[in-house]
Amino acid sequence: MIAEDAETRTRRYRGVSYRGPIDAAKEAVPVIDLAERLAGPGVRRGREIAFRCPLHDDHDPSLRVDPDKGVWFCDPCLRGGDVVELARLAWGYDQRDAHTAAAMLLMEFGHEVPQRPPAWFRKQERQKPRRDAVEQTRNNVLRRRLFKYLILPLINTIEDEEEHNRELDRAWSEFQRLMR
Ligand SMILES: [Zn+2]
Repeated sequence: MIAEDAETRTRRYRGVSYRGPIDAAKEAVPVIDLAERLAGPGVRRGREIAFRCPLHDDHDPSLRVDPDKGVWFCDPCLRGGDVVELARLAWGYDQRDAHTAAAMLLMEFGHEVPQRPPAWFRKQERQKPRRDAVEQTRNNVLRRRLFKYLILPLINTIEDEEEHNRELDRAWSEFQRLMR
């Protein structure tokens, strides 16, 4: 029996590498199907099919789809790309949320959304303390600012210094409890 060496194990691990929703959507959903879903039936123009562009107020079909290449382009918009890019722009997702647009696209056309690999979850778990700390700091800053604008002006009307300080302590601890 020959023991499996590290290299073989690594290769096999890489063999089941994660395919994200963007790649899956590009493979599963033809751009022509999304264009039809968004804009209704298109008009054939030679190799391309033209649609009324869902990204601008289009009266003359100007979004051109090349079904063979799986790409689209709109001349008035000066925008184009693949099926995920069309979904992202049409549904108003940010550039960095392209994977969300891709997942929506897969669901919209009845495909399964690939699950994240175990390594992804492990990484999220490792990063959780840092994310929590950032969140905590944000909350603290927000709390102090709210206190300053909402509560402090009321307390500052107290002229007696001792009473002022006492009320300040009390209000701050009540406010902290409230904001938790
Ligand atoms: Zn357009």
